[in-house]
Amino acid sequence: MNALAKRIAELIAADGPLSVAQYMTICMHDPQAGSYAARHTIGRDFITSPEISQTFGELLGLWVVQCWHDQGRPDAPRLCELGPGRGTLMWDALRAINAAAPEFLSDAEVVLVEASPKLRAEQREKLKTSAADIAWAERFDDSLTDRPLFLLANEFFDCLPARQFVKTERGWCERLVIVEDDKLAFALAPVPFAAEPTGGADAPDGAVYEVAPAALALAEEIAQAVASKGGAALIVDYGYATREFGETLQAIANGQPVDVLEEPGDSDLSAHVDFAALAAAAKKGGARVRGPVSQCNFLADLGIGPRAERLMIANPLQGRDIATAVDRLVNPALMGVLFKALAWGPKSIENLPGFNY
Ligand code: SAH
Repeated sequence: MNALAKRIAELIAADGPLSVAQYMTICMHDPQAGSYAARHTIGRDFITSPEISQTFGELLGLWVVQCWHDQGRPDAPRLCELGPGRGTLMWDALRAINAAAPEFLSDAEVVLVEASPKLRAEQREKLKTSAADIAWAERFDDSLTDRPLFLLANEFFDCLPARQFVKTERGWCERLVIVEDDKLAFALAPVPFAAEPTGGADAPDGAVYEVAPAALALAEEIAQAVASKGGAALIVDYGYATREFGETLQAIANGQPVDVLEEPGDSDLSAHVDFAALAAAAKKGGARVRGPVSQCNFLADLGIGPRAERLMIANPLQGRDIATAVDRLVNPALMGVLFKALAWGPKSIENLPGFNY
């Protein structure tokens, strides 16, 4: 057991088993040993779209500008990114926004929502020469819902904590983390959970239902803000478009899958995003929802092809690298289909850019 596993085992001995969601939260955010708090996880355990190609952040920045124009360029907008990682997406987005609509930035408040002090420091360093005035928040809350809200989140919702329920003869029982033979292990709660998930009656024994309550609550809150004050939210992540019963919780260390319980904090934990559930939460919040569509269609609709060509003409020596990077984002066998985009805006707005393919 590593040091964090020992501390988790002590916590379980004192307070009882943990839910998978509680376990995920500790592994990611423990101040001493959590993967986002203490480890260089992005770029080491996994690599994200904005880290692969600058076109990704640029197109997301232009998506914001287009949404802002389509809504009559509302005054005092707030541009918010959830989980900005190393700040690369925001760096590219701000460059593109500043080129296309400097008047948006001069009037906007930019807020980065980041739980990890270590990553907040990295973001501050990366963005110190950017054109915008940037503030940081540890979490998304009411203080961010009083203005038109333009919100971006790439690979953020997959790391919000998920609970797991397993279908048994007794009903759907929650999967828990316990200590067995001096090791962390999974067990099922003896008493089934009262509610049956939608579509769960036909699922076979052993089927796993994952739900991320914090993600759904957050999506609804963002949707309420966008529906009442204007703006738009864009979620890009990997996941499934319609509910599937299956286990997707995974741990990745140095690019390789590892045991979820073996070395807590020394890998990146995530679960696939249930886009149908997020879309339903956003509708409940009063927004008009578009998508999910595959990342390849979304980026093609936003013009990744012409943007990549321009970049290659301007940087002929890097032409091959630029093409390889863009291919990685849009190729259906790589990130093009597993990754998806979902967006929402106010009911008064019919369409959002990127969903017309
Ligand atoms: N969007 C970035 C990074 C993705 S990794 C990219 O595309 O490269 C997930 C990010 O979300 C990290 O910055 C992590 O620290 C942050 N994060 C995870 N859980 C969070 C939470 N509950 N609140 C705020 N930030 C969180």
